Amino acid sequence: TTESTVPKSEVKVIRRKLNGYVGFANLPKQWHRKSIRRGFSLNLLVVGERSLGKSTLINTLFNKDLYPVDSFSKASFPDPEEPVKVSVETVSADIEENNVKLSLTVIDCPGFGEGINNTDTWKPIVDEVNSRFDKYLEAETKINRSTIVDNRVHACLYFIEPTGHSLKPLDITFMKQIHEKVNLIPVIAKSDTLTEKEIQEFKQRILDDINNQGIKLFNPPEYDHDDEETRAASRQIMAKAPFAVVGSTNQIQTPDGRIVRGRSYPWGIIEIDNEDHCDFIKLRQLLIRNFMEELKEITANKLYENYRTAKLKKLGIEQDDSVFREFDPVLKQEEEKQLHEAKLANMEAQLRSIFQSKVSKEEKKLQETEADLFAKHKEMRDKLLKQIKLLEEKKKELELAKPLHEPTHSAPTKTRKGFLR
Ligand code: GDP
Repeated sequence: TTESTVPKSEVKVIRRKLNGYVGFANLPKQWHRKSIRRGFSLNLLVVGERSLGKSTLINTLFNKDLYPVDSFSKASFPDPEEPVKVSVETVSADIEENNVKLSLTVIDCPGFGEGINNTDTWKPIVDEVNSRFDKYLEAETKINRSTIVDNRVHACLYFIEPTGHSLKPLDITFMKQIHEKVNLIPVIAKSDTLTEKEIQEFKQRILDDINNQGIKLFNPPEYDHDDEETRAASRQIMAKAPFAVVGSTNQIQTPDGRIVRGRSYPWGIIEIDNEDHCDFIKLRQLLIRNFMEELKEITANKLYENYRTAKLKKLGIEQDDSVFREFDPVLKQEEEKQLHEAKLANMEAQLRSIFQSKVSKEEKKLQETEADLFAKHKEMRDKLLKQIKLLEEKKKELELAKPLHEPTHSAPTKTRKGFLR
């Protein structure tokens, strides 16, 4: 019997402890060593309006001054008369922690949402994501695929202004344009400017908007082999989305003497690395500790695959048969022959119609002449018939007028005169 004909209930999976040592229990260790040797990499797209604390948060996340903080001094405010151009800037850094290397690339998009008309402000960013997919696709089709560098965007942190209301049209437009191309992770910027209650309500309104608009956020899959602890940890992380974050690399001293990263206010201190104060830790766990590989896997297996399929399909349609004809001499010859035959048929039809019109003209002329001749013939016949009739009448008259003994040479009479006339 083949496998498919065996009822599922009869297939027995034997779970058994091995008597001796085989060695595959060490596979994770192999993988671990290999991963450490290779190092890790992450490409992070960071999008949001100016001064929402993007640079600060990136520096805080990776504990490194990747960006000069305080964008107020970083660049002047744009001239409102000038159209604002969104640019794409990339910062890369190799960071190391306990001998584990992380090659980090942050893609920043200054100018986003700064124009008076922000209709197309998302476009350069979507173009950047697409172009990274395109480059990967190009590299994949090369002969040597062993050295492909993965520059695809693995996650997008989208910064929402802490208005406390709901999403702005710009937020919705951007997220709708990007959500099927990247793992989208929305964050509420500078959440220390909102109260705990305001944050909860704001989060709910944001999630409602996101659901209503059909926007998909990053959501790690649950695996059968995950234990309950792992599942609970995942759920706890994802329950915080959109993450209310606070960023700061400043070390400050708390009243109880601890040195913490935080922001100091007259009313107290906001600790960045304190889960009771903000969602920074949860966001960091998502990006780095728990789901970095998941972000990359979803990018490769789902988002990139969808892009690749759509792209190749589109190329196939655009190429049509004409591309193949271009390269196939038999098809090309056949096409040329058909073209030539069509041309000949067209010429023949034209000549035929000219000939026909000439013939019908001549026929018409002939018909006209015939009618003319017929009319003339009739007229002459009528004339002759009339004359015959007249002559016959005269003949009858003469016969009546004829004397019984007619002289042989008599002078013409009055009546004869009339006849002569
Ligand atoms: P970017 O333009 O989005 O990169 O913003 P920056 O990171 O340069 O920050 C702009 C300003 O906001 C700076 O003065 C930061 O100190 C401040 N800032 C950054 N993060 C926070 C935050 O979480 N809370 C508050 N209150 N201010 C912040």
